[in-house]
Amino acid sequence: ASVFSNVPGAPEDVVFALTSSYKADKDPKKVNLGVGAYRTEEGKPWVLPVVKKADYILVNDDNLDHEYLPILGLESFREASVKLILGANSRAIAEGRAGSAQCISGTGAVFTGAQFLSRHYSVKGASCYISRPTWVNHRAIFEGVGIPVKEYPYWNPETKGLDLTGMLAAMDSAPSGSIFLIHPCAHNPTGVDPTPDQWRQIADVMERRGHFTFFDCAYQGFASGSLDKDAFSVRYFVERGLEMFVAQSFSKNFGLYSERAGNLTIVAKSPTVKNRIESQIAKAQRAVISNPPAYGSRLVSLVLNDEKLYGEWEKNLSTMANRIIDMRQVLFDELTRLGTPGKWNHIVDQIGMFSFTGLKQPQVKVLKEKYHVYLTDNGRISMAGLNSKNVKYFAAAVDDVVR
Ligand code: PMP
Repeated sequence: ASVFSNVPGAPEDVVFALTSSYKADKDPKKVNLGVGAYRTEEGKPWVLPVVKKADYILVNDDNLDHEYLPILGLESFREASVKLILGANSRAIAEGRAGSAQCISGTGAVFTGAQFLSRHYSVKGASCYISRPTWVNHRAIFEGVGIPVKEYPYWNPETKGLDLTGMLAAMDSAPSGSIFLIHPCAHNPTGVDPTPDQWRQIADVMERRGHFTFFDCAYQGFASGSLDKDAFSVRYFVERGLEMFVAQSFSKNFGLYSERAGNLTIVAKSPTVKNRIESQIAKAQRAVISNPPAYGSRLVSLVLNDEKLYGEWEKNLSTMANRIIDMRQVLFDELTRLGTPGKWNHIVDQIGMFSFTGLKQPQVKVLKEKYHVYLTDNGRISMAGLNSKNVKYFAAAVDDVVR
């Protein structure tokens, strides 16, 4: 018998499984609204023109080699990533208490921060509170490093918007010094973000209760099209003097999904604390990946550190954000035109890659089986999967399943 005969099979990841079913589907009308990856008007993946340019520069750079990066990654990438999220004039940067570690994309950055907290967080036994609902990996990552996971209310199914009261109450009653995992913009899966005034109320409670903020920022620039606007919450929390981790992903805003370019930004109370955190993360990272991959971080670093390329990147970001915003409007208009039962204004009110439609699991099943439209059971759709060729078909399908 195998030494592994007692290993039970694990369930397949739902989003990746959905993509497999979509690929296997032979129907020409099929639509994939599962995976959170940008698609063009033609339904194709998009290599950002600015990334193509940076690619060309790298390929022709005779000074580049394939030596190891330092354990904490490419310095020019790390510094530029910190500036990008905190803002070049951030007081945390000026005071030398903002640090970083290059990680295996956003997922790796969440893991790296979580692993550090599991070993060094001062409040022993503290739980990590995640929003209900949230990205599936949050629970898996924190439980994986042995941190207990609890949930705070976020989505209000009645209003199809933010449950601010529930969220604030949960923050207020959580044991002081709890860890809160917060989406700074383009909340996945709901597409619902707090307003600046609501962020103020959230920061008040977080500060008063001494909670630790762990931002997971996977969509900076992708939500509104403005890098600064999408960083408002993070910068505001820094202004308030709060310590925090910020996991940054360049998968969406650079279209670098498979290159695994990510960063963990650290904002500490003092340079000494920041240095110690970095040193512990370096020690831990050595034992997990030894050192991070170079290619994606070189591309990002080139663009972030060159004024002209940076400007082009901002234009590419607007193209993506605006196409998604347009699709929200077209979908909303079409549902309105069809007189589809229910209120659909949340489609246009929500922001970022996803919309939480409110469709129920049996309706999702019919969409898949009868219409070849693929979306997760919680009714989340990736807006990027819609384009002017399939949006009317999708709206008609929704109209049918809700009647
Ligand atoms: N956090 C959230 C909320 C996300 O939606 C994603 C992407 N699905 C990630 C982190 C990480 O993505 P990646 O590892 O590709 O950077």
